[in-house]
Amino acid sequence: MERVKEEQNVMSVILQNMPNEAAITKIEYEGPRIAIYTRNPRYLMENNTIISNIVETIKKRIVIRTDESIRKNEEEARKIILEMIPKEAEISSTFFDTSIGEVTIEVKRPWILNPQTEGSEYTFNITELVDATGWKIKIRKSPHILSQNIQQVNYTLKTSAQERSRFYKDVGEKIFRERLAENTEASLLTLGGFSEVGRSCMLLTTRESKILLDCGINPGARDTFSAYPRFDWLNMDLDEIDAVVISHAHLDHTGFLPVLFKYGYRGPVYCTEPTLPLMTLIQIDMIKVAMSEGSLPLYTEKDIREVIKHTISLPYGVVTDIAPDIKLVFANAGHILGSASVHLHIGEGDHNVVYTGDLKYGKSQLFESASWNFPRAETLIIESTYGAKEDIMPTREEVENTFVNTINKTLSEGGKVLIPIPAVGRAQEILMVIDSYMKAGKLIESPVFIEGMISEASALHVAYPEYLSRDLKQKILYSYDNPFTSEYFTTIEHVNDRDEVLRDEPAIIMATSGMLEGGPVIEYFRALAPNPKNKILFVSYQVNGTLGRRILDGSRQVSITSKEGKIEVIDINSSIERIEGFSGHSDYNQIINYINKLRPKLKKVIINHGERKKVENVASYVSKVFKIPAYKPYVEEAIKLY
Ligand SMILES: [Zn+2]
Repeated sequence: MERVKEEQNVMSVILQNMPNEAAITKIEYEGPRIAIYTRNPRYLMENNTIISNIVETIKKRIVIRTDESIRKNEEEARKIILEMIPKEAEISSTFFDTSIGEVTIEVKRPWILNPQTEGSEYTFNITELVDATGWKIKIRKSPHILSQNIQQVNYTLKTSAQERSRFYKDVGEKIFRERLAENTEASLLTLGGFSEVGRSCMLLTTRESKILLDCGINPGARDTFSAYPRFDWLNMDLDEIDAVVISHAHLDHTGFLPVLFKYGYRGPVYCTEPTLPLMTLIQIDMIKVAMSEGSLPLYTEKDIREVIKHTISLPYGVVTDIAPDIKLVFANAGHILGSASVHLHIGEGDHNVVYTGDLKYGKSQLFESASWNFPRAETLIIESTYGAKEDIMPTREEVENTFVNTINKTLSEGGKVLIPIPAVGRAQEILMVIDSYMKAGKLIESPVFIEGMISEASALHVAYPEYLSRDLKQKILYSYDNPFTSEYFTTIEHVNDRDEVLRDEPAIIMATSGMLEGGPVIEYFRALAPNPKNKILFVSYQVNGTLGRRILDGSRQVSITSKEGKIEVIDINSSIERIEGFSGHSDYNQIINYINKLRPKLKKVIINHGERKKVENVASYVSKVFKIPAYKPYVEEAIKLY
């Protein structure tokens, strides 16, 4: 009964405030939003205060959708789009999402379609296009190369349109049901990533709902008890979970997510827009790695497709209901593309939780520094990867100078520099450094060869410029100077092209994997390591037990297994160097400074994602200096939040 009342309330507010000209045909839940279907989208677009006034009253998100009856079929609509969009914008693809009646148009020069672009000679009006096609229109910048992962995501969305329409409705009905309990309370159950790095996962429970935050694996773990989140300890059915919220795409935050779907979870997953294709890339890669090692993958591509179908992606800064008593907002975390800190508002102003996810409180080439100005935060859950007193990094400027100088030395002596690198995040940061210093004449001009998944990951960065630093966004969206397509860079697509790379000329080579555990970097390593003129340059963390770590620790002779299974001994005569400070994590000072920003209202600080020693160090500072209760739980603990 109650629910019917609430629902009628919302619907009647909307209808009462709608003039007849709006030609509303249907109002229904679309996941966390309310979708209003109209036969006259032009009217609502031209009178947008109508919608904003309703939103003000009902405090829920509203989207305008076009009624199916006015939508031209895809072929016709595509024709109209091609006619109405100026040729100069250059359309590279169109994607029709029939479940919501929205077309995403990717163009090479989006600024041409922006009415705010100064001195533009083009007159493009998006309302006209919606009116002519009957479809909602979304314009995006197309990446310089076609992203396979965006295509995979779109294909999965396309083929599951009907299923998703039902799913959105079901999710909406659950979110907007009447609350069962008057007063609230909340607890946090730690499932992974506490007093350790890896398998980040925790469950926030209130009287109304259960929200899972992150769902990762620990790739370095020795046994299954420390590799995966401890759902066995929870003693709970997966369908009791109301929503999964993902902070960012890294495997230690998303690697176990497809397993939830393998075992029957069918609820929503919330993450930022780029996190979806990025985690798809990382999850598919995990299957490939398992296969190449001859071990059984944890899940299949079918499970990954279920993740895609059930993901609802949100931009930064948008307040979204995800349960009857919980509102979610994502904020920039500065760590990798789309990385978010998660702000959860519980009840009617009862309690606010901020979970930082992996956090960089400092500007990098790729991202702005993490956001910290949340309207309210009583509980902070913060990572502590570099939480020890001695974890102080040099400034970015110092790091970049060291990097440039060491490369210049090798290049000027006629050698090659090999940079083993993880494909996502660090690789793009290094590419931006190389491009800007070469352009400025501070780094000796030389070809930069790139091999591995790096280019695909770069394409995803170009596809979501809103998530990059102001500078980069500006360049990609509004100029021809996209640094990801720098003329210095050459992507190596075929094994045969490696001969060119290995010719006797100075060059920089970036290849995966970052710790020399497989991947194309191995081939370059065996060719370059014996020559004293060359340099192997590490810019990312090398885990104990990896080949990268052994080399860094001083091994001058290592054995590798060739593709044919033969063991080969490699003499290392090249120089070996490591540069610290390119990390996507906050150093100790940045962690403390960030907590200090949030301090006035904090009632609890819970420290996670760090080795025990680091967790203890941050906790002791917070309780002694800030005088805020600090918690340093292990996995399998419950903390009452309020
Ligand atoms: Zn991470």
